[in-house]
Amino acid sequence: MPAPTIPELLDTMDYGPSPESPKPALAWLDEHQRRFGHFIGGQWCPGSGHFASVNPADGSELAQVAQAGAAEVEAAVQAAQAAQPAWAALGGPGRARHLYALARALQRHARVFSVLETLDNGKPFRETRDVDVPLAVRHFYHHAGWAQLLDAEFAGHEALGVVGQIVPWNFPLLMLAWKIAPALACGNTVVFKPAEQTSLTALRFADLCREVGLPPGVVNVVTGDGAVGQAIVDHPGIAKIAFTGSTEVGRAIRRATAGSGKRLSLELGGKSPFIVFHDADLDAAVEGLVESIWFNQGQVCCAGSRLLVQEGVAARLTAKLERRIAQIRVGDPLDKSTDMGALVDRTQWQRVHGYVERARAEGARIVQAPGALAAVGGAGASLELDALKGCYYPPTLVCDVESSFEIVRDEVFGPVLTVQTFRTPAEAVELANNTAYGLAACVYSESVSLALDVAPRLKAGVVWINAANLFDAACGFGGYRESGFGREGGREGLREYLRRVAGPAGQTAATGAAPGGVAQAAATREGSSVATGAAAIDRSPKFYVGGKQARPDGGTTRVLQSTDGSVIGSVPEGNRKDIRNAVEAARSAEAWSRQSAHGRAQVLYYLAENLDAQRARVVQVLGTTLGEAAAQAEVDQAIGHLFTAAAWADKHDGAVHQPPLHGVVLALNEPMGVIALIAPDASPLAGLLALAAPAMAMGNRVVVVPSRRHPLVSAELTVLADTSDLPGGVLNLVTGDADALGDTLAAHSEVMAFWAPQATPAQAARFEALSAATLKRTWVAFEADGGPCHTDAREVLEQATQVKNVWVPYGT
Ligand code: NAD
Repeated sequence: MPAPTIPELLDTMDYGPSPESPKPALAWLDEHQRRFGHFIGGQWCPGSGHFASVNPADGSELAQVAQAGAAEVEAAVQAAQAAQPAWAALGGPGRARHLYALARALQRHARVFSVLETLDNGKPFRETRDVDVPLAVRHFYHHAGWAQLLDAEFAGHEALGVVGQIVPWNFPLLMLAWKIAPALACGNTVVFKPAEQTSLTALRFADLCREVGLPPGVVNVVTGDGAVGQAIVDHPGIAKIAFTGSTEVGRAIRRATAGSGKRLSLELGGKSPFIVFHDADLDAAVEGLVESIWFNQGQVCCAGSRLLVQEGVAARLTAKLERRIAQIRVGDPLDKSTDMGALVDRTQWQRVHGYVERARAEGARIVQAPGALAAVGGAGASLELDALKGCYYPPTLVCDVESSFEIVRDEVFGPVLTVQTFRTPAEAVELANNTAYGLAACVYSESVSLALDVAPRLKAGVVWINAANLFDAACGFGGYRESGFGREGGREGLREYLRRVAGPAGQTAATGAAPGGVAQAAATREGSSVATGAAAIDRSPKFYVGGKQARPDGGTTRVLQSTDGSVIGSVPEGNRKDIRNAVEAARSAEAWSRQSAHGRAQVLYYLAENLDAQRARVVQVLGTTLGEAAAQAEVDQAIGHLFTAAAWADKHDGAVHQPPLHGVVLALNEPMGVIALIAPDASPLAGLLALAAPAMAMGNRVVVVPSRRHPLVSAELTVLADTSDLPGGVLNLVTGDADALGDTLAAHSEVMAFWAPQATPAQAARFEALSAATLKRTWVAFEADGGPCHTDAREVLEQATQVKNVWVPYGT
């Protein structure tokens, strides 16, 4: 027999076993007698009930982990509260040293953490060693830097207090780092809860906190299931909840915290598109898909789980993929040549398999490499969990699917890729955005012009161009829409853990009639007369919707009387339908978001110019309820707000990050879209424009419910907008009852952010609870009633934008 050639040898050569030893990690478990309590106030506290933490690769028990009850959560919050003032008072540079020490210690123990994570979660050691742990280390280093710079870079800000942090099981240590590092850098203390399936690296991290001398109570770790998470969420001593997990639980947390004043950030699920254009490097796209959907067994919130490929190359790409998945090595996670390990537990396995089998029943073609599970016991057999050594699942392609299929709509959270085709870039964008989620997207094309044209049109917090699943502490990460709100990492991630102290923030004063305000109101059928003397001309104010005046759907008008009983005007009363029309008009005015910042600034300056020109009339009208001096002041301040917003329009720029990769990351400040505003009551013009003007400057379209007490401002703003080239739909005004209209806006699916600066506690609770259905960003109860508007324009700009990070690696 002739000797095999080198290519033949390379083709037939198999991998030898290359297992990493679990011994150091098991030794640490043994030090704790494989039984853990909670880490509270720098001490290990024995837990009462315990449950097993299991290695999903072989079903063996690793340790007993404690289930916290209300008493343990209480003790953890108290320890964090006790530690917080001194931790904040330590100052940024002092905290920087602790964060630096944590980074160094994590690095020193990198091997133990990697092995422990692999044992506990089932993910390949290659990934824990090369991705999870190094990125966690980098997060602590990066935030040591932020702590050092905090006083200079965030002057006028302070820590929130005690932060409750809850994470899922897919990146246990990395999620811990994403949560704890920024919270500590800003001077907060933490009550942290890992997922019940994967608590071990968090417990090992608790030991690390002791090792580096972190002050007791700064980091507290309580373990257990969702009930523990819920107790943290409900605890009144907690100032903020930072949650990563499923959209379903995120929504429940939004409801539970509604109106509590607790800050909230939600990093939720995703169903991210992976778009391949016909000019893409198809081999690179295949490797990108391996990184995207088969990394961490597909249990990645931002996994590119929907392949959208341009029709002309679809057959070639699918054939390449079918060949490639046959080479993915599924096996012992501790073996260094394993590509895919085990899913996290039996429940997750059943869930993934259920999705695949239902897709098959719906008519999909399922492709799984024959023999993919040979190494783990299931070769040739049907895919049965009990026939396998552990929770292994093969890389899976799901072809011949429609957008309506369950498997295309739902987050599967497993190694499962659906395949769909498109013809044009516009169709690709439409398909990509056809999901309730908005976490991430990948775009593969050799044309940088095409890729950078498509990236901003994708509704996603992160876009990777010719790359997938790249992360760095300097670059914010987070979603749009039902993928949640808030960012982790970067400058924007820090803002989640700080509050501005300048100005009278936070409190809501009791409402009451302002001097000269509307004393009484009576609802009549349409039409009224404004008492402006003998020559009064009948005037029927309307709403302002889509650049046109609109009559109220219900035909109801509120007559306004002065304190002396004289009639001073009338305003229409809006209802649900009026709000829906206004939101539709705002949604359709999307071109405003694409208009240049310079162009938007011109319009805002023009509004200011015309307001000055129309001053006499505006002062006369507002003066009827405010008094002349206050009306003059309103106009002056309003002009100032318009000028400030115009000035910022082209200056609230994004940033270019240079993470450790050959390339750049463009952090783009994108408008939220449609913003709803329940305008401040006492300052009807200036208060409204202090918020609406910066929102419009950033490219948002706003639907405003003007002041209930001084609603005549609405007609004046209508004239102003009409005479100032403001495109129809950018500013929409619907007068009426803030409660009823606010409820409709808070629940509306096309409203992306909801602002109610002077919401009462009851309103704040209701509005935030209603916002949970669509998980919109809320900003409520932050302005006191009565005075001029104190809100800092920069704060409004931040609320009016969300950061999209576009990763652009280059070179070879
Ligand atoms: P999950 O929502 O079931 O659990 C997440 C965490 O919340 C766990 O610690 C759990 O114990 C806790 N929890 C459960 N019920 C709770 C409640 N009522 N109140 C408070 N806490 C509660 O999610 P999971 O199945 O563990 O994780 C998978 C999900 O996480 C996926 O949807 C995935 O997309 C998402 N995820 C998102 C990101 C991101 O950054 N956007 C990152 C990783 C994972």
